[in-house]
Amino acid sequence: MDCIFCKIANGEIPAATLYEDEEFRVIMDMGPAAKGHSLILPKEHYANIYELPEEKAAKAFLLAKKMAGAMTEALDTDGFNIVQNNGSAAGQTVFHFHMHLIPRYEKDGAGFGWNPGNLSDADRDEVLSKVKRVLQ
Ligand code: 5GP
Ligand code: ZN
Repeated sequence: MDCIFCKIANGEIPAATLYEDEEFRVIMDMGPAAKGHSLILPKEHYANIYELPEEKAAKAFLLAKKMAGAMTEALDTDGFNIVQNNGSAAGQTVFHFHMHLIPRYEKDGAGFGWNPGNLSDADRDEVLSKVKRVLQ
């Protein structure tokens, strides 16, 4: 399998590395939304959150918390986004699980978000009943 993030995470292709341990590498994104935008990559290949084992997901979020604290202190950020995309419809372009760590600064103009709609009664009832049925 030819996966760019497998190669970067395992050191076959060099990348600006903020942190590394046995299971993860944290690299600087080559197309940053704001100064310091970085990515948490697991060293093993999982395409998305659905493939990611629970234990790895827990460790990834603990690492996100550690990195958010360190980067906020080091870069004197005003805010911080953690973003994780699954599937092309959700904006995923590299199909190796990753978490975006995005330092935010007042007036940085990064401005990603969504246009809020309205929660209709029909959507509320449908979503509640369908998701709760699957969770049971
Ligand atoms: P996605 O859209 O899949 O959530 O995010 C993919 C991210 O990976 C993008 O922000 C993009 O800039 C970054 N990216 C893609 N290829 C490379 C690469 O080869 N090196 C680095 N450092 N970042 C990459
Ligand atoms: Zn991979």
